[in-house]
Amino acid sequence: MVCLRIRSSHAPIMTCDNGIMTSLPLVFDAPKRGRPPTHFADLDQAARVAALGELGLPKFRADQLARQYYARLNGDVEEMTDLPAGARSKVGEALFPQLLTPVRDISCDDGSTRKTLWRLHDGTLLESVLMRYTDRNTLCISSQAGCGMACPFCATGQGGLDRNLSTAEIVDQVRAAARTLRDGEFGEPGRLSNIVFMGMGEPLANYKRVVSAVRQITSPAPHGLGISARHVTVSTVGLAPAIRRLADEDVPVTLAVSLHTPDDELRDTLVPVNNRWSVAEVLEAARYFADSNGRRVSIEYALIRDVNDQPWRADMLGEKLRRSLGGLAHVNLIPLNPTPGSEWDASPKDVEREFVRRVREQGISCTVRDTRGQEIAAACGQLAAEENDASPGGATS
Ligand code: SAH
Repeated sequence: MVCLRIRSSHAPIMTCDNGIMTSLPLVFDAPKRGRPPTHFADLDQAARVAALGELGLPKFRADQLARQYYARLNGDVEEMTDLPAGARSKVGEALFPQLLTPVRDISCDDGSTRKTLWRLHDGTLLESVLMRYTDRNTLCISSQAGCGMACPFCATGQGGLDRNLSTAEIVDQVRAAARTLRDGEFGEPGRLSNIVFMGMGEPLANYKRVVSAVRQITSPAPHGLGISARHVTVSTVGLAPAIRRLADEDVPVTLAVSLHTPDDELRDTLVPVNNRWSVAEVLEAARYFADSNGRRVSIEYALIRDVNDQPWRADMLGEKLRRSLGGLAHVNLIPLNPTPGSEWDASPKDVEREFVRRVREQGISCTVRDTRGQEIAAACGQLAAEENDASPGGATS
């Protein structure tokens, strides 16, 4: 039997006097190992036509395959029945290798949240989370296997970076979930409407592949999955130059910045990349983004008891945001999801309410995020895939 465990329980964590864990280095360049096989979704139109030419197939097949993959949501060539039976296996081998193999699904929140554990071609594990709401269906996807940003309160960050995902490994998480919803395999048949890059990894550290994936997620069918760019949120620790670069792309996504505290002193520890790009630099880049795409930036703030939840920090947050972003900021408070091995906890509700009140007093909109997926380790910051099939009946955490 298969069981899941949180990797951070065996990660090398050290605790300092103030209870804040530090030990991991920042890793920007992913190890090159384990590159997945090339997939249709990794290629542009010219490369698709060239690949088909090598198989002796005419170029109109490229559009046919795009329709199968993005519009019909078929990932397996055997389902692509308008492709001649004799060509299917060679097309499958060359262009549609199975990138994601489901290992298991676990649900909670009365069946409205489902976490899927995937195994990649090289054995790397990955998680994505599907959430049904009354007015939308949201998929939380991963952009890297693991993460190199080393945030001490995040389970993925504590496990380190395994490798970057390929474009197709990102896109295929979305295709698979859209299909699951369409086919009613997760409640009533529905449509996938929202995507958040809030699973494993730092999306802007895997920039080119993430942007290419976003283009495919948002392009209308049959050249993409047709999800509105407004409904795609890219969440970042605050890689300022990459935020500016993203602002200059023609992909009008929503930006989320994981700020977690308004002062550099604490942020240097809570979000270690702050040592490279300070709060002021991150907020300037966020302003640049908001100005160029006209959309509000979501400021993520995991509220941690006695660490970043003081009234003065709420005032400072509100003030800094008023000055840098004004009405273009929205604060999203996330009650901390405790991860194994951490002494930290969420703030009490009265502290949380006071925090919200003070931020709003500065004229900044502020809400508390609903916490989905906690009991199956599928909530924000809890994704840290590890599979262990050596312990029959072993506990799941
Ligand atoms: N690397 C990206 C996306 C990953 S996680 C980023 O940092 O933005 C998505 C959000 O969950 C981030 O805001 C992250 O800081 C937050 N998060 C991580 N661990 C958490 C935890 N234990 N409790 C609550 N939020 C957490």
